[in-house]
Amino acid sequence: MKVSVPRETAQGERRVALVPEVAQRLVGDELEVVLESGAGEQAHLPDSAYEEVGARMADEGLSGDVVLKVALPSADEIGRLRQGAVLIGFLQPLTAPDTARALAEAGVTSFAMEAIPRITRAQSMDALSSQATVAGYRAGLIAAQQLPRFFPMLTTAAGTVRPATVLVLGAGVAGLQAIATVKRLGAVVQAFDVRSAVKEQIESLGARFVELDMGLEDAEAAGGYARQLTDEEQQRQRELLADVIEKVDAVISTAAVPGRPAPLLVIEDAVKRMKPGSVIVDLAAETGGNCELTEAGETIVRHDVTIVGPLNLPSSMPDHASSLYARNVQSLLDLMVDEGRLELDFDDEVLAGACMTRDGEIVHEGARNAAGATHPA
Ligand code: NAD
Repeated sequence: MKVSVPRETAQGERRVALVPEVAQRLVGDELEVVLESGAGEQAHLPDSAYEEVGARMADEGLSGDVVLKVALPSADEIGRLRQGAVLIGFLQPLTAPDTARALAEAGVTSFAMEAIPRITRAQSMDALSSQATVAGYRAGLIAAQQLPRFFPMLTTAAGTVRPATVLVLGAGVAGLQAIATVKRLGAVVQAFDVRSAVKEQIESLGARFVELDMGLEDAEAAGGYARQLTDEEQQRQRELLADVIEKVDAVISTAAVPGRPAPLLVIEDAVKRMKPGSVIVDLAAETGGNCELTEAGETIVRHDVTIVGPLNLPSSMPDHASSLYARNVQSLLDLMVDEGRLELDFDDEVLAGACMTRDGEIVHEGARNAAGATHPA
C-alpha cells in the first residue's frame, strides 16, 4: 500500500505532513512511502533525509492509497486524488463546505484531524493541541519582542525595572502554553477563561486567574469546549475585561469557539485605555479576532498600541510543528493500517468521529450541516 505526501501549496504553509523519523516507521510497517520532491524543504528536511530511511521521492505526492497533508487541499489537489483514496489533513470540517463537497464527489475517504474526538485514547493524535502548543509559545515570544519594555524584573545599578504584566485571554492549549512561555520570560501573568475548570491549570503555571463578576456559572459545553455566550454575557464580559486590560502591558488573546467566529473580547475603548506602547497579540485573528481592531495577517498600531494578528503561527516554526504533526498522523494511521493493509473500522469512535467524507457522502455531522442540507454532496 502506498502512502504519499505532496509539497504543501497553500500560501505561507511551511509544514510537511511526514518527517523522516515517522517515514522510517511507516517503511518498517511494510508501507511504500513516496514524497513529492522538496516536500520537507521548508521544514529543513531535504529529500536525502527521507531517502536515507527508505522513502522514495517522486512527482506522485497525491497518488497514494493514503495521502497525508497538512493544509486544506485546493480544488486542483482534490482533482488529482485517486477515487477511493484516503486523505488525512486539516480539512476544516466546519468552515470549508466546498472542500467537503468536492472530496465527497471525488469519492475520497477523508479524515479531518480537527474532528478526532478529544478523548484520552486519542491524545497522541490530537493535532489541534500539538499545533496550538506551537502557536501559544510563538505568541508569547511575539508579545515579548513587540513590547518596548522588559518582561522580567531587573535590579541593576541604573535602577530597578518592574516586570511586565501580561493578560492571557482564553486558557485552552494555546493560552496555557502562552502563559508558560511569558512566565518563563519573567512577566507577571493573569489569565481568564469562561470555563472555570481551567482556573487550577492557570494557577499551576504560576499565573493569577482573573475572576470576572459575570453572573456566569460555567460555560463549558460538550467535549471540553466553551459554549457560545449570549449577547448580554458577551457585552458584560467586554466591559469587565476593559478594566483589567487597561492595567496590563500585553494581552495575548486565544479565545475560540469551534466552528464560530472568535468572540469579541477587546473593544476599541479598551485599547484606547491601554498604556502607550502596550501590545496585543491576537491569536484568534484567523477567525475574526478577539480584538475589534485586529487586522488578520498584519501588525498595526492604533491608539499607540501595537496589535498583531498573526496567521498560521505553527507554520512559523515548521520544524517542530511538522514533527509533532507527523507523530499525530502516525498514531491515526496506526488505527487504520494492519500488516501493511488498510483496515478502516468505522465502529471505532476515533475513526468514525474523524471521518468527514466516505462513499460519496459527507458523513461528519458538522461538515454536513456546514455544507447545507440543500447540497446532497
Ligand atoms: P479552543 O481553541 O477551542 O479555545 C481556546 C480557549 O478559549 C478555550 O479554553 C475556551 O474555553 C476559551 N474561550 C472561548 N470563549 C471565550 C470567551 N468568551 N472568553 C474567554 N475565553 C473563551 O480550545 P482548545 O485549546 O482547542 O481546547 C479546549 C479544551 O478542550 C481544553 O482545554 C480541554 O478541556 C479540551 N481538550 C481535551 C483534550 C483531551 O482530552 N484529549 C485535548 C485537548 C483539549
